[in-house]
Amino acid sequence: MSTKRDYYEILGVKKNATLEEIKRAYREMALRYHPDRVPTEQKKEAEEKFKEISEAYAVLSDPQKRALYDQYGHAGIDQRYAYEDIFKGADFSDIFEGLSEFGLGGSIFDEIFSDLGFDIFGRRSRRGSGRSRRGRDLEITVDITLEEAAFGTEKIITLPRYEECSVCGGSGAKPGTKRLTCPQCKGTGRTVISSGFFQLTQTCSRCRGEGTIIQTPCSECGGEGRTRVIRKIKVKIPPGVDTGSHLRIRGEGEAGTVTRGDLYIIIEVKPHPVFQRQNNDILTEITISLSRAILGAEVEVPTLDGKVKMKIPAGTQSGRIFRLKGKGIPDVHTKAVGDELVKVNVEIPRNLTAEQRRLIEEFARISGEDIPKESLTDKIKKAFR
Ligand SMILES: [Zn+2]
Ligand SMILES: [Zn+2]
Repeated sequence: MSTKRDYYEILGVKKNATLEEIKRAYREMALRYHPDRVPTEQKKEAEEKFKEISEAYAVLSDPQKRALYDQYGHAGIDQRYAYEDIFKGADFSDIFEGLSEFGLGGSIFDEIFSDLGFDIFGRRSRRGSGRSRRGRDLEITVDITLEEAAFGTEKIITLPRYEECSVCGGSGAKPGTKRLTCPQCKGTGRTVISSGFFQLTQTCSRCRGEGTIIQTPCSECGGEGRTRVIRKIKVKIPPGVDTGSHLRIRGEGEAGTVTRGDLYIIIEVKPHPVFQRQNNDILTEITISLSRAILGAEVEVPTLDGKVKMKIPAGTQSGRIFRLKGKGIPDVHTKAVGDELVKVNVEIPRNLTAEQRRLIEEFARISGEDIPKESLTDKIKKAFR
């Protein structure tokens, strides 16, 4: 049961509202509920409201997400997107473009959404503005074999990333020196600008909202508080993953001032020489001789964990598919294991010896079939073989 309110209702727009109307509604509400513009005691409430309208806007301003929501409601969105993914790709920049001059721009997202760890402005570079509270997420592609995908594996990956500077402990200040209270904002991280009717609060430009400034920068990291290092990380890959699977490893992303980002492992399963994967089943083909197909046999069949014996019943037709239960790949969520499907091809012998040919002819005669006599050219060919 979802207790979430309807996105259209949240923004106060009609179901058939145009993108422009949705943008306008969001902009107006974002101004009204901007946590920097309400009294302190209402700040928490305003933040919640701001999150709610931002989520509604992120969905309704994206045609794909909006269509999904229109058709399936909140369930459609929640099933398809993790909470932070709802915001990915949403364009907040033109909404807040004009507002950033008054300090009503990105900083609020940093604060409210910092636990989600994404840069809501996407293209807006944070270079030169120090570190964000939550470190950047990292993404790395890992190639594995089909066997590793089926049974799970452990991989050591080499990851270049920013980590907290070991010399200054992340403060950016030279050891033995202290950070000073920012003289511009007196440590509040905010400056106030009077603009007509409003008093607007802006993130302090000197300390960038941190409230303190570095007196003597750390020589190791140059005041950044972090350095680039190469880390080796052991990653456990669960059974059942497939190409495109994402594994999230919390806290293995880059260092931020408060928390680390996450590491996303993107799985790429290499093509297999013998097996093809179809969801959790695997497909393979084997070839058996004509006489085995006719008389029946026990044959060896490759599986992901070695060869097994499989019974071929007498009279097996070429192209028949046999199912080896539980020899496929486990579902990454339900753990239910798929099957192996073995397609049996029957090979018709090409070059018969005289003896073989005589026996087949005999077989045909007993079966009451008409067999063409060997032609003169066939006889000559045979003589010169
Ligand atoms: Zn340092
Ligand atoms: Zn300051």
